[in-house]
Amino acid sequence: MPIVLRNGLVLTMDDRRTVLARGDVLADGETIAAVGPDLAVPEGTEEIDAAGGIVLPGMIDTHRHLWQTAMRGYGADWTLTQYFVWYYLEWGRRFRPQDIYAGNLLGAVEALDAGVTTTVDWSHGLQTVDHAEAAADALQEVPGRFVLAYGNIQQAPWDWAPSADLRNFIGRRSWDDMLGLQLAFDVTGDPAFPEKAAFEAARDLGLPVTTHAGVWGATNDDGIRLMYENGFMTPETVYVHAATLSADSYHRIAATGGSVSVSTESEQSAGQGYPPTWQLRHHGIPVSLSMDTSVWWSGDLFSAMRSTLGADRSREHLEAHLRSETVTHCHLRAEQVVEWATRGGAAALGLSDKIGSLEPGKKADIVLIKNDDSPVMFPILNPYGHVAFQAQRGDVHTVVVNGEVVKRDGKVDGIAKARAAVAQTVDYLQGELGDSWLSGMNPDIPETKILDNPYTYTDYRSS
Ligand SMILES: [Zn+2]
Repeated sequence: MPIVLRNGLVLTMDDRRTVLARGDVLADGETIAAVGPDLAVPEGTEEIDAAGGIVLPGMIDTHRHLWQTAMRGYGADWTLTQYFVWYYLEWGRRFRPQDIYAGNLLGAVEALDAGVTTTVDWSHGLQTVDHAEAAADALQEVPGRFVLAYGNIQQAPWDWAPSADLRNFIGRRSWDDMLGLQLAFDVTGDPAFPEKAAFEAARDLGLPVTTHAGVWGATNDDGIRLMYENGFMTPETVYVHAATLSADSYHRIAATGGSVSVSTESEQSAGQGYPPTWQLRHHGIPVSLSMDTSVWWSGDLFSAMRSTLGADRSREHLEAHLRSETVTHCHLRAEQVVEWATRGGAAALGLSDKIGSLEPGKKADIVLIKNDDSPVMFPILNPYGHVAFQAQRGDVHTVVVNGEVVKRDGKVDGIAKARAAVAQTVDYLQGELGDSWLSGMNPDIPETKILDNPYTYTDYRSS
């Protein structure tokens, strides 16, 4: 059935950034049929009243470890080191396929609820193919748009990426606009560049690579340089965080056309480095936004937009004050972060022709922010500022994905099933951890990082 959202304030995010003070968006089948005021619609079209609300394209999160949603909030006080110890070295291995499924199911529903219609599931807990099947099953069960970024922190990427297991898994399932595929692994900076085999596998499979780059104490300029020298920095490559890098590395990213997925809340708490948008803007590097993991925070791009504006402006003021200068105009505008949360994500995923804006012919991924019970939804004077600083996930009234209503009147489906699955995972993990359950929220740091993880981050220093 066609759907029309009527009389909303429409942020089209098209090339001209057209804003309609009062407009309609008509979805017919999987695509947007028309955008404009007082649209004539086919008989039988479902009408959704968007008056008093803001209509914008579905938001796009380019880096989210959905499987970790099963441990929601557990690591609220962690640093990145504690996260590595808990997941990479101590407990990540205990996650069974059904635990990956449970976290993915809950995280995927959470994304839709927040108006995130496309999520890259940076799925680095896939220690067996059964885990991968479970991850993909959950993503296909939830009516959002997803990209499975296949990874495995329990094995070296040069082992799993070229494996027959991975090829068989890819061949067994179907991949399309609703469920895409990438490879997800990091480059440690080892001068021997063992990751070369993983990049070659990605190239053979025709898959983009997403990689945590410029993460303080984990990945650095050497990884970027090795990727560059070996010809693996390509336009479809997504560099996550890219927060602790030299100007030279930013030049390499800019020159090769890649983009950076910025997770401001993550970078601020975990310590990958200062949220880098102030650097990326300077170097002209395309940006998308992401929330990283619900083990610390939410899957909510309102938070991403707000924290990114704050971090970028904060840095600009601080740098100016160090020069005894005053910033009189904010260079990063609210419009820019709304663009990063929509068009920016589409560009990073090579999907600009399909998603990221409200235009006829694009996929019908649409969000209506409207809450007549909230004093914060009036007046709406600066629509981009309203999205970034005033609205929140509870104000997401309607979400449409691929022409289908997946959140209606503030309610999404699938919560009960996800809650039951996650409850079983939490019970199981509490049993596995025993006394470590409580201490795990503030784990001891081992004397050496070299435990039994074959994929240990190592600090290589060049001259
Ligand atoms: Zn991450």
